[in-house]
Amino acid sequence: MSFLKQINPFENAIKQFSKAAKLLKLSDSQIAMIKEPRRITEVNLPVRMHDNSIQIFKGFRVQHSTVRGPAKGGIRFHPDVNVDEVKALAFWMTYKCAVVGVPFGGGKGGVVCDPTKMTPTELENLSRRYFAEMSELFGPDADVPAPDVNTNAQIMCWMFDTYSMHKRQFLPAVITGKPIELGGSEGRSEATAQGMVFCVEEATNHLQIDLKAATVAVQGFGNAGSFAAKLLNEHGSQIIAISDITGAYYNADGIDVPAALQTCANNKTWNLEGFENHSNCMKMDEPMKLLELDVDILIPAALENQITEENAPNVKAKIIAECANGPVTPEADDILEQNNIFIIPDILCNAGGVTVSYLEWVQNRMGYYWRKEKINEDLEHIMKKSFKEVLEKSNVYKVNMRIAAFLLAIERVTKAAELRGLYA
Ligand code: NAD
Repeated sequence: MSFLKQINPFENAIKQFSKAAKLLKLSDSQIAMIKEPRRITEVNLPVRMHDNSIQIFKGFRVQHSTVRGPAKGGIRFHPDVNVDEVKALAFWMTYKCAVVGVPFGGGKGGVVCDPTKMTPTELENLSRRYFAEMSELFGPDADVPAPDVNTNAQIMCWMFDTYSMHKRQFLPAVITGKPIELGGSEGRSEATAQGMVFCVEEATNHLQIDLKAATVAVQGFGNAGSFAAKLLNEHGSQIIAISDITGAYYNADGIDVPAALQTCANNKTWNLEGFENHSNCMKMDEPMKLLELDVDILIPAALENQITEENAPNVKAKIIAECANGPVTPEADDILEQNNIFIIPDILCNAGGVTVSYLEWVQNRMGYYWRKEKINEDLEHIMKKSFKEVLEKSNVYKVNMRIAAFLLAIERVTKAAELRGLYA
């Protein structure tokens, strides 16, 4: 994690974007219109703590683009959150929504805090204060947040309730990732991982790898990573390593994924503490070495900048499925491409989350709720269609999947910006 402070994720995002923008021969003014964020808001949030003291937390909301629809993107609670990280995450949301064709722009929020050291009441106070301070930005037709690292369905409920109390109306479409009881969608919890699985099915078909016989390593065991391990395990793939902040756990014969999920359930949080005591697995001395294991499929599902030029030469996986946003730096990208590693880029691979968020938003606005089968059918259609469109671009332009995904997305955002013209 020491890399995180040295590598600027927004600069990395721009490097990825620029390669594609160059191929599209966009003019400087076209690039200027769709590169920088439209609005950055920073707030200082006073929160009363359990000992009656008041602590000030810094919060951000970046609206990168509202060209194709309301800004859309999660809210992250983490001690390392900074404005460049939130800018990068908002930027990726704009292009992610465009890749899968959902009618949203891009946004992201973050609060500098360590939720593991906060009581539930402190967390609720902070969540409500953040949403109240930003309530003018948010709205079903303006900016629609969702969960991200260290935020969950309960936090979405507190935020939705704060907004609804301000507006004196029941407005569930202001936020997605809510529980079913309060307007959440069937299939939303596992949507990011399910979308990744649909992409991996396409990628393994393309590369003629047998998914049922594939070995897998997953970094991060939260919302995205735990469901990734669960769903691929159910597919018959062998998950040989998983990790989270407590360490990395390895078993060459296959991790007992249900036991790992049970460990988290017992710990009452996404936390694998003590897993090695309940399962026949080994705790790795160096958790980052999980990324270098000899597996067919590597799934980074934690934070950005995990595969850098330093460890990229040691990566042995055939496919990297980016559940996390920005886990591979541009320098590492070049090395992995030279080594013929097929990357399913974040803006495609983890777009299942925002796709089902879109379906949740639609259902909230209709006041009518679909069955899980319908949600999964729509998700499969959107993800597989998007994968094929990106693969086709990659063949036409002879570029890797990341640049191809940006080509497709930039074309869509640029077209929408052109059609709207300038309000002056
Ligand atoms: P989460 O908070 O539920 O889980 C994060 C996991 O990463 C936890 O298990 C945590 O212990 C682990 N982790 C943190 N630092 C680590 C490290 N150094 N090594 C190994 N594990 C570490 O978050 P999430 O929602 O699962 O998000 C994970 C990633 O997926 C993020 O990049 C997020 O932006 C991306 N993502 C999530 C969604 C979604 O719907 N949740 C959608 C798209 C993208």
